[in-house]
Amino acid sequence: MHEMTKLLENLNKQQRQAVEIVDSPLRIVAGAGSGKTRVITTKIAYLIDHVGIKSTKILALTFTNKAAREMKDRVQKILQNEALNPFISTFHSFCARVLREEAPILNLPKHFNILDTADQRTILRQLIKAHDLSPEINVVKFEKKALGQISDWKNGLLSPDDVLETSANPDDREVAKLYKLYDERLRSEKALDFDDLQVYTYHLFSNYPEVLEKWRKRFDYVMVDEFQDTNDLQFELIRFLTKGRNDLTVVGDPDQTIYSWRGARVEIITNFQKYYPNAKTIVLNENYRSTQQILDLANDFIEQNHHREKKLIFTQNLGGKRPEVKEAASRYAEARYITSMIEKMVKNDGYQYNDFFILYRANYWSQEFEKVLTNAKIPYQLVGAIKFRERKVIKDAMAFLKVILLQDNLSMERLLHLTPKVGEVTQQKLTLLAQEKGLNLYEVVTSPENEALAVTKHLETLRNALIQGEQLANNQAPVTQILETLLDLSGYWEQVKILDNDEKDNQNHLKALLDQVQRFDDEFDPERYGESNPLLAFLQEEALTSGDDNQQEPNKVTLLTIHSAKGLENKVVFIAGVNQDVFPSRFSMMRTDSLEEERRALYVAMTRAKERLILSYVQGEYSRLSNGLLQASRFIRELNQDLIDIERNIFVHNDGVITSQPASTKTMAASEFQKGDLVNHILFGDGIVIKVYETEYQIAFNNPKFGVQILVKGNPVLRK
Ligand code: ATP
Ligand code: MG
Repeated sequence: MHEMTKLLENLNKQQRQAVEIVDSPLRIVAGAGSGKTRVITTKIAYLIDHVGIKSTKILALTFTNKAAREMKDRVQKILQNEALNPFISTFHSFCARVLREEAPILNLPKHFNILDTADQRTILRQLIKAHDLSPEINVVKFEKKALGQISDWKNGLLSPDDVLETSANPDDREVAKLYKLYDERLRSEKALDFDDLQVYTYHLFSNYPEVLEKWRKRFDYVMVDEFQDTNDLQFELIRFLTKGRNDLTVVGDPDQTIYSWRGARVEIITNFQKYYPNAKTIVLNENYRSTQQILDLANDFIEQNHHREKKLIFTQNLGGKRPEVKEAASRYAEARYITSMIEKMVKNDGYQYNDFFILYRANYWSQEFEKVLTNAKIPYQLVGAIKFRERKVIKDAMAFLKVILLQDNLSMERLLHLTPKVGEVTQQKLTLLAQEKGLNLYEVVTSPENEALAVTKHLETLRNALIQGEQLANNQAPVTQILETLLDLSGYWEQVKILDNDEKDNQNHLKALLDQVQRFDDEFDPERYGESNPLLAFLQEEALTSGDDNQQEPNKVTLLTIHSAKGLENKVVFIAGVNQDVFPSRFSMMRTDSLEEERRALYVAMTRAKERLILSYVQGEYSRLSNGLLQASRFIRELNQDLIDIERNIFVHNDGVITSQPASTKTMAASEFQKGDLVNHILFGDGIVIKVYETEYQIAFNNPKFGVQILVKGNPVLRK
């Protein structure tokens, strides 16, 4: 009890209220870093110590694995008792947990198989083939459409029979039939895909009142963090557990909704009272995470979103260093700069490696950092993402390059696997043929006698591609040309385009790889490699630089996407690749409302920082990502120039010295005036500068007739 008093003293008045309210449902709406998660973690302790609830009867849900981990750590720190074990997890693992326990009712084995997307695709493809289902000639395209459609149906709680009944047009009917077969197949194999976890739990709760009652009794209190990102199905699950009761606390920040593309609906938090009429609401408005300088910039920035409610947020953490913006000439230069800043700050300013986050909008931006950090021997970890080299598309592309020179069976098998209409049976036949002839698989596929084509005609395209690629390689062609030829002629590029999800991730990974290969070609020096064939040199370098970077080391720099950084914080935050077509992503610009969602993502990123915030972008390097030269994101221009320090053309010299150009040399006009300067304008008279943008000032004039005006810099304004 004594401890509890001390814990509550660590909270401000509103937070304390939020912890103590247990007699009605509670909603906390508040900005980043205002202690929402701290309220949850403290409330867990409060419920145990003060209200007397058993730790295992408390359920706390959040969205990402990393956030769940973080919450567990914070709670453990407060409780200091391993025996106390509140249920803290993501929605999906909560559902998996429920389903394992209720498996017998659902006629599932206790350790049912959970399928990933690749498994799902394999099954769909087999079914399409076996039942001759594709109404289109392009099976791959049909398969992709079916995958998305089935997921939507599942999340909308529509069964195969529901869909079969209602789908009128022939195409939909085909997908509906496939859905039914897919569903039967999963049931017969007792496997669940990711969507199934939530859907099954929903059905379990709605069809078995006694089971629901058991789970309702299982938990005496339910809390949900990051509530702004809840979708309808998840909210239904929460309602099942808490409807008509008072034991629910939800916390969220509408400005941090970044999952609406996955069905998250911010209305769920804004209309909370509709579902829980006796709910109370608490607003927190003191930020404890960031310095004033960081907070000012983030708040000023998010105000450009129109669809939001204004929030007041302040901090007592005055001062700190101004957020910085750095422009680099290439992705390599950006990575070098950040890496060397980390080295310097560790050496001179007492920071540790684990005080750093490097955030980016899309996974493909990590590759340059992985390389440069590895070279600099700085320990790092990638969160929630597969390393660039371990991604399937990259491995596929590398298999093409490897096989034409190395003729290894592993790569060849990989390629056969990729080839449409070539299955296990054909592969076995080819392997047998190879054994008979004493050849390797590659030789069999590409042999002049065309033996492989006798086995299956579906190898023709691949065979031609490989032969062309091999010729180019023998003629010592640049690696870029070889890779492009292989990807084009084999149809792989086309296949990726069709299969790609809406974010175009795989295409972007391939483009990033091509950029990297291009750089290799540009810099290729036979002397240095002791090898005149570019492809051989490239493969050698690859073999040397990949692998073995997975040692256990707790003190690491963390690389992660903004989406997986939700709810986390760190002393120093770098946000890299704030580039047009990257962030906001080109894809997002095609959807309505999504610019605001992208802005929220940058707001989330900036508000992760406690002490130092450094944004960077690449200017002028060619990239396929933007079909031209990389440019600063519009978000860089939207930052209030009064609140940041900008440096251009940052460059790390070999001796580690960093040079840069001051901000004024290029497009940015020198800020003649600062915020707060009193000025005089020929026409408008006296006024005061209220904001300084890259190329404009916002000035409030004394004469109400003119009011607030935006004026281009250089416009005749005189200092008073
Ligand atoms: P986000 O929206 O990013 O999830 P949040 O609202 O959940 O942020 P927390 O992570 O709970 O914020 O808190 C931010 C930081 O401020 C944490 O380091 C937390 O320990 C600290 N903090 C929160 N409340 C207080 C307080 N009353 N006194 C001191 N520090 C606090
Ligand atoms: Mg939080």
